[in-house]
Amino acid sequence: MKKEIPYKIYLEENELPKAWMNLRAYMDKKPAPLLNPATLQPMTKEELSQVFCEELVKQELDDTTKMIEIPQEIRDFYKMYRPAPLVRAYCLEKALGTPAHIYYKFEGNNTSGSHKLNSAIAQAYYAQKQGLKGVTTETGAGQWGTALSMACSYFGLDCRVYMVKVSYEQKPFRREVMRTYGANVTPSPSTTTAVGRKILEEFPGTTGSLGCAISEAVEAATSMDGYRYVLGSVLNQVLLHQSVIGLEAKAALDKYDVKPDIIIGCAGGGSNLGGLIAPFMAEKLEGKADYRFIAVEPASCPSLTRGKYAYDYCDTGKVCPLSKMYTLGSGFIPSANHAGGLRYHGMTSTLSELYAQGLMEARAVEQTSVFEAAEYFARVEGILPAPESSHAIRVAIDEAVKCKETGEEKTIVFGLTGTGYFDMVAYEKFHDGKMSDYIPSDEEIGKALAKLPNV
Ligand SMILES: *Cc1c(COP(=O)(O)O)cnc(C)c1O
Repeated sequence: MKKEIPYKIYLEENELPKAWMNLRAYMDKKPAPLLNPATLQPMTKEELSQVFCEELVKQELDDTTKMIEIPQEIRDFYKMYRPAPLVRAYCLEKALGTPAHIYYKFEGNNTSGSHKLNSAIAQAYYAQKQGLKGVTTETGAGQWGTALSMACSYFGLDCRVYMVKVSYEQKPFRREVMRTYGANVTPSPSTTTAVGRKILEEFPGTTGSLGCAISEAVEAATSMDGYRYVLGSVLNQVLLHQSVIGLEAKAALDKYDVKPDIIIGCAGGGSNLGGLIAPFMAEKLEGKADYRFIAVEPASCPSLTRGKYAYDYCDTGKVCPLSKMYTLGSGFIPSANHAGGLRYHGMTSTLSELYAQGLMEARAVEQTSVFEAAEYFARVEGILPAPESSHAIRVAIDEAVKCKETGEEKTIVFGLTGTGYFDMVAYEKFHDGKMSDYIPSDEEIGKALAKLPNV
């Protein structure tokens, strides 16, 4: 007899993952290495260590160790807000009238409001262990900056955040959460760095971009003693830390003998999705099981569905290593009416390679349909979702509706990465009918792609 599935499947504390899963170690054809932009040779440990913490560089370059132990100090922190519940969306299934079984893994149950804390705490731990004074980073909408501020405050590190200027001005709440945790927040581009001054000279009045803020944060880290730069997505190490999402989800499903058919996640830089799919994709790569994976991205920033798989700059100032990824070009900036996050021009190299090999699908969705799904979900399931997470909700609903049409009883799992409490200005636009969709033309994308480096 099948066990009755509770609304929320929680794991016991002793069932929490003790090691992260390194998905690259399961891949026969590995993601391409980061390249030094000057020499076009793979970045060495020594070169990366000037920018990043030593232990994190080790994780960044390791594509053979399958499981990497989670230090006890990090597990102690995880215990404060993990395990995250895996929720059976009974109300959503009923409202849709679908035979599909829908589950979501909810990562919004911590003060920073998203999955980003899973990697922030690991990165802060290794920085403190190395004896550093502090770390620098960029933040767009503010979730990463918030998570990192919490993590730095826990380990007694100084935290300097370059926040994209338009968000700094339009999202004062996240900025103040960061300051509550002791972070120093600077609107970017700023006059505090050479690259910031250069960008301001070239584009006076610019409201900034993630790519700009990354360049500034890297410059700040490398010009101050005892500081390193940390990043909240895209890098291998971040996917590694985020594997706790997938490991917990799989352990919870295994407890009830549930095998998902489709696993869906939103994709900005690709870290939550990479983490969610890790143990499932590992099984697929080993030929032990088969799953469908769907990455969902905004139609206004469609790196997987319309980008090119090539080496590109990771930042506007071109100070970071080159990464081979699906990219829209490092100069690509989503149109001003794009409301949510997921605005990075590229996709993490692991997901890019899996997508290139045809092991994962991708779908681009327009923001008004994303907010329709968000509102519907809030009304039936109670949780107010982040706009980013709502991309996954959109496609989960679409797939569940397909099951209704075909009568198939598929099991769908999606990642609900965070809450939308600080995104009410975007919700307001949606409610007032002032939200529009914008899909970049081939010409616009072509223009940004024409500036790819010649590798
Ligand atoms: C940052 C963020 C994302 C996107 O980042 P990934 O690295 O693609 O996971 C998605 N959802 C929320 C709530 C976020 O804060």
